[in-house]
Amino acid sequence: MPLADEARRPTALIVDDDHVMRMLEKETLSQFDFDVREAASGEEALTMLAEAAPDLLLLDVDMPGIDGFEVCRHLRLRRDMTEVPVIMVTGMDDIESITRAYQSGANDFIAKPINWPVLGHRARYVLRSAQSARQLRDLEEKQAAIVRAIPDMIFLMDRQGVHLDYKAGFGATPYVPAEQFLGRKVAEVLPAEVAGLILRGLERATAQGDLQSVLYQLQMPDCIHHYEGRIVPSGPNRAVMVVRDITLEKVSAEKIKRLAYFDTLTGMPNRENFLEKLELELLRARQAGHRVALLFLDLDDFKRVNDTLGHSTGDVLLQAVSTRLKEQLRAGDMIARPALDETGLHLARLGGDEFTIVLADLEDTQTISMVAGRLQALLARPFQLGSQEITVTASIGIAVFPDDGEDAAALLKHADTAMYHAKDQGRNNWQMYEKTLTTETTARMTLENDLRKALERDEFHVVYQPQVRTEDGAIVGIEALVRWQHPERGMISPAAFIPVAEDSGLILAIGDSVLRTACRHMRTWQEKGLKIPRVAVNVSARQLRSHDFLESVAAIIAETGIDADRLELELTESILMEPDAQRIDAFHRLRTLGVHFSIDDFGTGYSSLSYIKRFPIGMLKIDQSFVRGVPDNGDDAGITTAIIAMASSLGLEVIAEGVETRAQLEFLRQAKCQKIQGYLFSKPLPPADMEDLLRLGRITPPM
Ligand code: C2E
Ligand code: MG
Ligand code: MG
Repeated sequence: MPLADEARRPTALIVDDDHVMRMLEKETLSQFDFDVREAASGEEALTMLAEAAPDLLLLDVDMPGIDGFEVCRHLRLRRDMTEVPVIMVTGMDDIESITRAYQSGANDFIAKPINWPVLGHRARYVLRSAQSARQLRDLEEKQAAIVRAIPDMIFLMDRQGVHLDYKAGFGATPYVPAEQFLGRKVAEVLPAEVAGLILRGLERATAQGDLQSVLYQLQMPDCIHHYEGRIVPSGPNRAVMVVRDITLEKVSAEKIKRLAYFDTLTGMPNRENFLEKLELELLRARQAGHRVALLFLDLDDFKRVNDTLGHSTGDVLLQAVSTRLKEQLRAGDMIARPALDETGLHLARLGGDEFTIVLADLEDTQTISMVAGRLQALLARPFQLGSQEITVTASIGIAVFPDDGEDAAALLKHADTAMYHAKDQGRNNWQMYEKTLTTETTARMTLENDLRKALERDEFHVVYQPQVRTEDGAIVGIEALVRWQHPERGMISPAAFIPVAEDSGLILAIGDSVLRTACRHMRTWQEKGLKIPRVAVNVSARQLRSHDFLESVAAIIAETGIDADRLELELTESILMEPDAQRIDAFHRLRTLGVHFSIDDFGTGYSSLSYIKRFPIGMLKIDQSFVRGVPDNGDDAGITTAIIAMASSLGLEVIAEGVETRAQLEFLRQAKCQKIQGYLFSKPLPPADMEDLLRLGRITPPM
């Protein structure tokens, strides 16, 4: 039924068998702005109603044929007319008629004799209230539809938190069935903590008259569910709480956060997460005037684990390391300090084998060394990976806010620099950042750059140091040593640039060039008919790890046409510790070609006899540091004698390096060291001078 809108005059149908009554009623209603039509009987009324519904019906009760009650009942049976307001005209004090009028669906009555002005007002009033009722019903229907469409649960509560009404949300189950909480207080139904939250929200919502939001979680039969409750006041003493189950959103948000903020391999916070936390800690530290330490930890030789045992073992090791750090760094009595509780210590994995630890709220720097020591102690215990037992060490660099950097980027950079310094200091140690380190780093980078250019410009050359037989000074070997003539800085010692060349990988090209040069010189000497002893070339561990090392040595031997039996390769002890079957095999194949192997700087590393035996080693070179101490330093003398004895028992040759004095020579002769290398006999010489010496074939030491 269309609403009687403002623009249209409302229509009224007057039904009365009395002609005079109809006329008077029509006159009255017209004055009250109705468009009036008339029916003289119930039958006629029904016919007219079938065509169109009026906005108001004025109906006489008492008519021959179909009376007013009957018409009203008919009307109410029609769906489109249930709401047409009906005023019945009854006899004065005819209580029975009045009762029947209401029963048959009338909205109001007016008794005869009619008070005419009242009739007009009454008609207007009935019309208006019918319209409001209709509007209200429409609104309610609309609201009910909206509420039905909302997946949330809706609770109506009073100020005290008593549940007054409830609408289930589809898919969402209440904590307890509705019948158990309706009429009861929140605190009687929900866990105290949650009830407290809701009651506070309720209190604020009703007091302030605005929307309050509460987040809480409840243990449901399947799992913990997360909810968001929005509480809006509804009248002065009530509030509606719309509760949404946000478990899924929460879970996926957490998953996204995990992916974005956590390292997938170890589950540790990742770089972004770390930087965010560090910035936050710095902000707090600035306000509180505290210090913050950043420890940058890098596993030593992790690449070796990856190269020798494979990346999956490397991954497992990283997981084991991070688990141990996570579980045990905080635990234990060393760390039971307030500065290192949940908020004060942040562990993260930056990537690769790099981990960071942030120590916030530092009151003293002692804590830093304690944690650094603790980190090293934690890693010192071997890791059991399947049947493999792996020992790792770490180098740790430390930078402190605000002393070493004002922001996260500067701190990270400086902790990284300090970490490299720790590596330079022989690894497995920790170093605090010092300002001089930055200049060191810059210098190192410049050096690396210069090395690159040096390769292009051919600035390297090779010098030769003879090795002599102890008893008579006969030249039994030559060591090839690289030299770098820097265009501006002059001669740079290999001790200064070899480590940089190793780190940058440039050693591969440099090593290749030294080997080729040495072989060419040998070839030249050979062509000149000189008797050439074995020529030793130093090989860095990095070269040995490269896959085509074997091929490149064989190729250079073939290319220069030297006798492979004249070539010796000096290895470092560290390479023996890597039991890579393929590499051992490569050594043996080179040995089959004729190439000899010796171990350089022997005694400074950790090689054990069992390792040496796996490789086709022919000679040990006693490191200069021991030779320097003999004969006066008891330890050095002891070690030197022990190495000589051990070498002989293994059937290995032995040579002492760095022999400078006659006293050293005397000691070594008595200890039965067969060969000697050192300034006492000769410094490294340019090839032409070496050639002259070869012609002589022997060197007599100065008396
Ligand atoms: P190294 O292989 O132990 O070489 C011996 C070093 O001791 C050489 O230093 C040599 O000049 C020096 N030396 C020899 N006799 C004496 C002595 O009586 N007293 C003293 N104080 N020193 C003596 P250099 O040439 O400066 O080389 C240093 C290190 O650089 C070498 O130690 C070696 O590890 C490395 N190196 C040199 N050339 C090469 C190369 O071509 N490739 C690689 N990978 N490393 C090289
Ligand atoms: Mg050497
Ligand atoms: Mg040496």
